Amino acid sequence: MTEGSNTDFLLAVEGLTVSFDGFKAVNNLSFYVDENEIRVIIGPNGAGKTTVLDLICGRTKSTDGSIRFKNKEITRLKEHEIVKVGVGRKFQNPSVYSDLTVFENLEISYPKGRSVFGSLGFKRTETVINKIQEIAGRIYLSDQLDVQADLLSHGQKQWLEIGMLLIQEPQLLMLDEPVAGMSVSERQQTALLLKEIAKQQTMIVIEHDMQFVAEIADKVTVLHQGQILAEGSPEKVKSDPKVIEVYLGH
Ligand code: ADP
Ligand code: MG
Repeated sequence: MTEGSNTDFLLAVEGLTVSFDGFKAVNNLSFYVDENEIRVIIGPNGAGKTTVLDLICGRTKSTDGSIRFKNKEITRLKEHEIVKVGVGRKFQNPSVYSDLTVFENLEISYPKGRSVFGSLGFKRTETVINKIQEIAGRIYLSDQLDVQADLLSHGQKQWLEIGMLLIQEPQLLMLDEPVAGMSVSERQQTALLLKEIAKQQTMIVIEHDMQFVAEIADKVTVLHQGQILAEGSPEKVKSDPKVIEVYLGH
């Protein structure tokens, strides 16, 4: 595919580069994500994985290259504009509102539910309540709706944050190490949750746990020093000698 031509991919990243004082954390990176795909990005610490998400969500501005979402150039948009076109991001550490309940955390994340921030005339409509209950069910927190987020386990906080993304209905969800700190059974539940989400939405997930990766990934992109070292099915990538040498061998 030639650069800049129309694309059927949901996300097309081409020639993406960011230089921090001369150090290229992401270096001429190109990759393409299909609709309803779960793409997992793996690679050693410092490979540039988080920076790639920072660039896509507009938190960091690229030095060069293009990011197209649904064929629309989003490279120069501001963070909130990128959220508006349908790209949601979950950060590495759960950032839920710890003094609010699960219900309230979901409520303030609801696109029209900014009551906490003082917008006028917002009522807890049936629609909002139903939506919150539906999401709570999907993230295994139906029984915790009235629990203060502070009191949740680390894994439950991760789920809540995924729920806070889901309620905004982004077409592309980006998750940075969503199962970090989770128990084995929480990991299994998260794999199910992500596969369920992929029926309607698309995901880019950064993850280290190769068993989890193999379970969820349609395709894996291996980053090393800001560039692609390998790309393909989990099986293909796992047996790639280059990948074993720089990443899996450790
Ligand atoms: P990963 O998520 O793969 O562990 P990161 O994307 O966090 O890696 O970081 C890639 C490299 O870029 C690291 O060497 C990191 O120190 C550097 N880096 C990331 N963000 C910045 C920044 N804002 N300024 C300078 N260097 C940065
Ligand atoms: Mg990172």
